[in-house]
Amino acid sequence: MKNECDIVKDLLPSYVADLLSTNTNQFVKEHLDSCQKCRKLYEGMKKTNCDNEEEEQIEIKHLKKYNRHMFILKVILVILALIIIILPLIIFIKFYINTNVASKAINNVNEYKNASNYLLQITENRIDFERNKEQFYISKYFYKDGQYKTETHFYSPNVTVGNPDTFEYGVINSKEKTEIEENQKLCYNIKSNYIFRRESEFLDLLMIALQPFSEDIGPLINIWVRAGYKLRTDTYNGKKCYVLKTDSKTSYKEIWIDKEKNTLIRTIEEIYNKSYREKTYSIKTDVVTNEDVTLPDLSGYTIKNIENNIPDKDIEIYEQLVI
Ligand SMILES: [Zn+2]
Repeated sequence: MKNECDIVKDLLPSYVADLLSTNTNQFVKEHLDSCQKCRKLYEGMKKTNCDNEEEEQIEIKHLKKYNRHMFILKVILVILALIIIILPLIIFIKFYINTNVASKAINNVNEYKNASNYLLQITENRIDFERNKEQFYISKYFYKDGQYKTETHFYSPNVTVGNPDTFEYGVINSKEKTEIEENQKLCYNIKSNYIFRRESEFLDLLMIALQPFSEDIGPLINIWVRAGYKLRTDTYNGKKCYVLKTDSKTSYKEIWIDKEKNTLIRTIEEIYNKSYREKTYSIKTDVVTNEDVTLPDLSGYTIKNIENNIPDKDIEIYEQLVI
């Protein structure tokens, strides 16, 4: 029996762990049934084993929990990484596409800077929702070989003004100009100590309309502001257009660019429940005649000579003002 007890004692750990073959298992089981000493040993071992298993289970639970937490953390990190990479990428792609569309119109304006003869026409429709007023303007800018004429016509169903039709004649980079108020038959010869009209000043009106794409406000702000525009295609007067639109809760602004000719043709600015401002633009070359930019016969007009000097320190500011 002593010998068999030794064998069983050796086998007990495997027996407890249920690792024995059927026959050996049977042998140990039979011995345990008949040997109290070994059975006590077995029961002691089984208890310890159970405790170990319990501990193991707890440990596994903790491990599983830890793994689950690690998994969630990894998912969050991956999503964060994607946001950090993808968001700037989307912003940059939008900036790139929008800038590309607008730069075609800007290049188009720059081409006119070399033109010696062009006519720029801008119409404007303003609605004041608060005062329930509507106003229309037609402005024409004739330019030929350094000479110019501007024409402004104003109309409003609600307002009567004394001089709805005004004209201005002059030479680029000159400190003299002539203004005519057609309806009053008034003519002002104006002299000043600053230059009234600079080269390509009228074209700057188009550049202003193409802001923020036509101005540099710093690389990062450029990207942020220009990427904020939504691009769509639309039709205006039968012309297919790119429309760049930026909007907020209170307002929106649209820039319409002729898809085929790459010219700016329309801008809209609306402040909801407050005001609406729509402008259309057209420009033609080689249509301005000498007659267009030459002072007409002023017989019958009251002519006034005005000297309009400004303080020297303001000259630079005045000369940089556009219209
Ligand atoms: Zn025994």
